[in-house]
Amino acid sequence: MSRLNMNWRPMLAVVVGCGLVGGGALSAQFEAVDAAPTARERLLKLLNAGKRVEEDGCARARAAMAKVAPLDGLSLLPPPGEEPLDFVSETDVLHYSLDIEVDLVGKWIGGSNVMTVRVVEPAVSTFEIRVSDAFALPALAVNGNAVSYSRTDSATIEVTLDRTYGVGEEFDLYIEYAGNPKNGGFGSIEFTTHNGHPIAWTLSEAWYAYTWWPAKDVNTDKATADLRFTVPTDFAVASQGLLQSITDLGNGKHQYHWKTDYQTATYLFSFAITNYTEFSDSFVYDNYTMPVDFFIFAEDDNSNNRALLGKLVPMLGVMSDLYGIYPFVNEKYGIAQFEWGGGMEHQTITSQSSFSEWLSAHELGHSWFGDMITCATWHDIWLNEGFATYSEALWMEFRNGQNQGALHSYMDGRRPRSVNGSCYVYDISSMNRIFSGDFSYRKPAWVLHGLRHVVGDDVFFDIIAAYRAKYEYGSAITDELIAVAEDVWGDDLNWFFDTWIYGIGAPEYRYAWEQNTVNGRTFVEVYLQQTQSGSYPNFPMPMDVVTRVGSAETLQVVWNDEDAEHLLFEVAEPIDGLTLDPDEWILETGKSVGTFVEGPPKIVGIRPIVNGKGNTVRVTIDFHKDVIVEAGDCSLVGDKTGPVNLTVDYRADVRCAYLLFDGALPTDSYVLVIGDSIVDVNSGQALDGELDAFRWGDTGVLPSGNGLAGGAAVLRFNAVLTKPGQGNKDRRVDALSAGRP
Ligand SMILES: [Zn+2]
Repeated sequence: MSRLNMNWRPMLAVVVGCGLVGGGALSAQFEAVDAAPTARERLLKLLNAGKRVEEDGCARARAAMAKVAPLDGLSLLPPPGEEPLDFVSETDVLHYSLDIEVDLVGKWIGGSNVMTVRVVEPAVSTFEIRVSDAFALPALAVNGNAVSYSRTDSATIEVTLDRTYGVGEEFDLYIEYAGNPKNGGFGSIEFTTHNGHPIAWTLSEAWYAYTWWPAKDVNTDKATADLRFTVPTDFAVASQGLLQSITDLGNGKHQYHWKTDYQTATYLFSFAITNYTEFSDSFVYDNYTMPVDFFIFAEDDNSNNRALLGKLVPMLGVMSDLYGIYPFVNEKYGIAQFEWGGGMEHQTITSQSSFSEWLSAHELGHSWFGDMITCATWHDIWLNEGFATYSEALWMEFRNGQNQGALHSYMDGRRPRSVNGSCYVYDISSMNRIFSGDFSYRKPAWVLHGLRHVVGDDVFFDIIAAYRAKYEYGSAITDELIAVAEDVWGDDLNWFFDTWIYGIGAPEYRYAWEQNTVNGRTFVEVYLQQTQSGSYPNFPMPMDVVTRVGSAETLQVVWNDEDAEHLLFEVAEPIDGLTLDPDEWILETGKSVGTFVEGPPKIVGIRPIVNGKGNTVRVTIDFHKDVIVEAGDCSLVGDKTGPVNLTVDYRADVRCAYLLFDGALPTDSYVLVIGDSIVDVNSGQALDGELDAFRWGDTGVLPSGNGLAGGAAVLRFNAVLTKPGQGNKDRRVDALSAGRP
């Protein structure tokens, strides 16, 4: 779903801008595809077309992260008064057969629904369904036997079945209903006019299906359907699946029969009825040919709208490339115009009030995310809306071959106005919270954008493919997506999702940097702070740092998980400047340059030095700053030979400490500890020496440190004494070919 009146209009200018930025060179991408490549091949071709060179290994190595602190003060609230039925259910609805007449002038609905239901738990003798008390229910029957019901509330009845049913048994519940509907939600059933002509349409999301038809309304229980609508002959009906027939009833009315064999969530069933102008397009993809049907108002049938609707076929192609084949390709995609300001992703027939590219892309994206995989609960609505919103951006990125500039420009226009909320909806008592433009649409789209950069394009789209493979035509909760993502990525991602999905806020960055050249090597030290509100968590993230020498740019990826830390990396030559996350993959609320603060010394080199005979005679330790280091700051202990007497010769000009021994080290395995009693000459800060601190990518263990003062370097190395006759105690001369450490 997407509401026009809330958030979206300002994007139009950006969209136009994106189109002008680039992409011309690759514009033939879709047309030029050779004989039936797989969707995967098409995707890789798309991705590689505009790929920037940033193969830095950051998409490979990672280590388990400490989980962020649990959220305080937030709990799973019970659903509201008009909540859907229990998440866990005794029954599985297999099929609906709806047969109703819609009186657009009298604003009346009457007819019947037959629900074919399979029992999935033992001893089921009642069946709860949702149907409004605005309707009379003149007849209910189970397998032809009249049954009674009692009303639970204004939206719910409990039917007493004709007997007790066991697991695996099925029954047909026939229910007649009629009346003038009372709508709810965002206009669950509306009878209005367009240009003087009557129109009736439905929009059930989130749980307002009961206002126009009797059904079980649980996102986890999808069903197929036959949908019959009797209306005056001057009206057309748009609904789910394929049109089976239009039967003239001879009384000035005709009956539309739509049928879908795809599993459909209750809130995704719909009708839209008026004197539509209809036209069709055709989506051809691999071996599929599918109709794309449009039902629009005659007064809006103009060349501009026709051109916009002409984007749907290429849009179907791009999204099928990215997400796998359009999920309902055996039936149709369609758009039926309605009067609610925005769009609603009714399965196989989206309702839209207008036809701008971003809106069409959003609703089409829902075919995969929302329709094919439905949020199992409304807590998880971001699984629908975040992906649909990101689908807008992906369309802008890929509509003319890949154009990352268009992606970033579009995402810039999709920044949430507030980050003071979580993507996960803890409180589902409010429709406005569930469908918060900031927290359920924009922020989740940015989270997906950020995830894509963290794991890399290939893994990101592999995650989507795996998510589809596991949950297609069903439903998912947030943790199920996370589990798929971790499975594909191969490591923990809770550090990412806990903050970005379950937590509130976003990071705000302040940074400053200095560089120094020591002994011919140049190091850049970044003082990086997360300065967001104290009520927001720290956001652990790999961060792009792009350094510049003249016009040449080099990408470094640093791991940032402290509120204030000093990050150090080596560069090939002195740099002219640097920028943090220049492409803006991370949703932040600010990124400013602050004042550089002196940081702790770090180790930038550790080398056991062997002489010409291969014997270890000293260890050199390079620091990036001038330090005070004494013999007592370091220790060297052999596993078998015990502590080694050592002295330290520190050379301030090259910031190098030599650990000297009495002689060559005996053959042994040694543990060297470079202690954090070593301090910076100027600031007195303790060595930032950890060699096992988490870092992003295959960057090795140096420079040392976790970004904070304090922490010893501990490492193990082997020494082999190769001097003839002294390697062991066997009184024989040892070979000279022993391995070097
Ligand atoms: Zn939506």
